[in-house]
Amino acid sequence: MEKPFADFGSMVFSESEMADRLPRPVYQSWKKTIENESTLDRVTADAIAHAMKRWAMEKGATHFTHWFQPLTGGTAEKHDSFIEPNADGEPLSRFSGKMLIKGEPDASSFPSGGLRATFEARGYTYWDVSSPVFIRDNVLCIPTVFVSYNGEALDKKEPLLKSIRALSEAATRVVNLFGDKDVKSCRISVGLEQEYFLIDRSYFDRRPDLRMCGRTLFGAPAAKGQELDDHYFGSIPTRVSAFMKDVNSELWKLGIYAKTEHNEAAPGQFELAPVFSEGNIAVDQNQLTMDILRKTAAKHGLACLLHEKPFQGINGSGKHNNYSIMTDSGQNLFSPGDKPAENIRFLTFVCAFLKAVDTYPVLLRMSASCAGNDHRLGSSEAPPAIISVYMGSYIEDILYSLYQDHSSQKGKTEKKEFNPVSGLSYIPHDNTDRNRTSPVAFTGNKFEFRMPGASMSASFVNTVLNAIMAQSLNEIADQLEGIKYLQEVREKALDICRNIIHEHKRILFSGDGYSDEWVKEAERRGLPNVPSFIESVAVFNDPKVIDLFTSLKIFTKKELIANRRILEEQYTKTLDIEVRTMLDMARRDILPAMTEEYGVYADILSKTKKAPAYITRHCAEVAELMEETDRNISLLEDAWLKAGEESTEFLTGKKIRDEVTVRMRILRKSADRFETIASRRVCTLPSYEQMLFNI
Ligand code: ADP
Ligand code: MG
Repeated sequence: MEKPFADFGSMVFSESEMADRLPRPVYQSWKKTIENESTLDRVTADAIAHAMKRWAMEKGATHFTHWFQPLTGGTAEKHDSFIEPNADGEPLSRFSGKMLIKGEPDASSFPSGGLRATFEARGYTYWDVSSPVFIRDNVLCIPTVFVSYNGEALDKKEPLLKSIRALSEAATRVVNLFGDKDVKSCRISVGLEQEYFLIDRSYFDRRPDLRMCGRTLFGAPAAKGQELDDHYFGSIPTRVSAFMKDVNSELWKLGIYAKTEHNEAAPGQFELAPVFSEGNIAVDQNQLTMDILRKTAAKHGLACLLHEKPFQGINGSGKHNNYSIMTDSGQNLFSPGDKPAENIRFLTFVCAFLKAVDTYPVLLRMSASCAGNDHRLGSSEAPPAIISVYMGSYIEDILYSLYQDHSSQKGKTEKKEFNPVSGLSYIPHDNTDRNRTSPVAFTGNKFEFRMPGASMSASFVNTVLNAIMAQSLNEIADQLEGIKYLQEVREKALDICRNIIHEHKRILFSGDGYSDEWVKEAERRGLPNVPSFIESVAVFNDPKVIDLFTSLKIFTKKELIANRRILEEQYTKTLDIEVRTMLDMARRDILPAMTEEYGVYADILSKTKKAPAYITRHCAEVAELMEETDRNISLLEDAWLKAGEESTEFLTGKKIRDEVTVRMRILRKSADRFETIASRRVCTLPSYEQMLFNI
């Protein structure tokens, strides 16, 4: 590989590294285990562990960890060194097959939503062989699932892996029914575009809200925002460019194909996108990417903000989830082919997707939601909270013509001549005119889901996409099964597509998703518009959703209840921290600044007989803002305490959402107004202007 890429994948214990280092029979036994999804035998596991340790130590690793993804949405690791004393007390390095495969972290402090009481806190980690082992700093990291003593998932990876399996089975069924019998399995491809902000570290350090909550709770807008669109795709600042170079080099070493980087719409905002990869790996790699962004920023004297809405009044950050389904032979099932037959399969998969999304819109909305994302979804910037699908006019026309052709044929006896599917061969690859306001957009050969928040793990969103798609495909397969001739299968499939379009066309929307008309139109169509994260969480109680996950064996009912609890808790805890931080800043930063400003002017007034009118006016305005702030502090505190009295976490969450967040906005208003009129000297918190325009 050429120079800048010479280190690509050097920190990954890749398949080829294994082939190189393992004795042939061991390697073959490993391959067989992977293919059959069976458990590794002891001898093979020991041999792999030994080779892995040697490789890691050659690269300077001293420790290993089972790297897992608890229900907090982040990642967790506990390091153990390879070193141990032997019988004579001499140091030796040891790493056995057992240590590789299974771990038992003391995990009592991770949220389990009641799946595990603290006194029986045992949680076990098991090696996820489908995601590669890698080295970070001096630690060999082994991707693992994390489950309770009873086998319940305590993490975000186990359900994702199960959903991938369910989807693979369902998609393979349909592909086989269409005559492609050689296909044995399918996988998902996922490409995650990551948005983030960078600000100077010194500003970050001086803002308690950014440090505690990841977003500014106060701050008047700068005179300039993003209205000139001069940041988007603009020349990347030198400092940021050096940062990106470092990030890329780290990512490449870990075998992550970091590909695209550019300035985003808001000042100080950037995006990084890797080349898509297998879903489970893409999710792992995105977690690593977020971690590397944060740590590399610190090295460059910067802070990387992954919060969905760090700054009010300018765009927030999302994580676009590009999703497609591939056969084991590498055919993309969302890619229209050259032959009409392939196009029928393509249409079937697209229709399955439309049906899936329209059947579970609230679940999909929920999967992309978190406390931070409430500031994006539904405010006119990010995709609206209403789920709809944008197909692009070309394909939308084909779908409608397919359906109308059928309606117009009703009552006629002659055989249909119109063949809408042949037209698909001319679909230009990137045919979509890029409707940026749509939450779900078809972009040529994949669906781009734009709702997820920048800080979120992409695990659950893909678990949901897989689950709803698996169910939709299984229902189609049920209808196609038993039909003898391929031609009849195809005709039946087109019929199924027609029915789906008839039943689910309300989900298709190509207009402006940010407009008020759309909100009304969506209501008329009966599309749900769930305004907040906490309200969307109730979807876990929906029998249809419970049935979806349990019948596909992705979650048990108990696990679903636990997940719901954890999400509710996460919401109230996040808001708790925000309220505390806000009260703290209002009392200890804002009011003192107001007092200082007031003092200066009141002093002049007390010493001067006839002070200029401005002094009197300003003094009065500051006094009024002080009164207002003081009052709003109490009102916020009252509302917050009251919300805590609700009987359940969910009701507390709702109360917070309905009443506390309103009070937060009001308190902010008086403080921000003060910032716009007070002297710079008294306002000690770094301003939007400094943070956004000074890197
Ligand atoms: P844009 O910002 O215009 O949406 P990008 O090029 O930034 O486009 O991102 C597109 C993402 O989609 C990349 O991560 C890319 O690798 C990914 N992608 C491309 N093809 C597929 C596919 N078939 N399945 C899943 N992801 C894909
Ligand atoms: Mg995109």
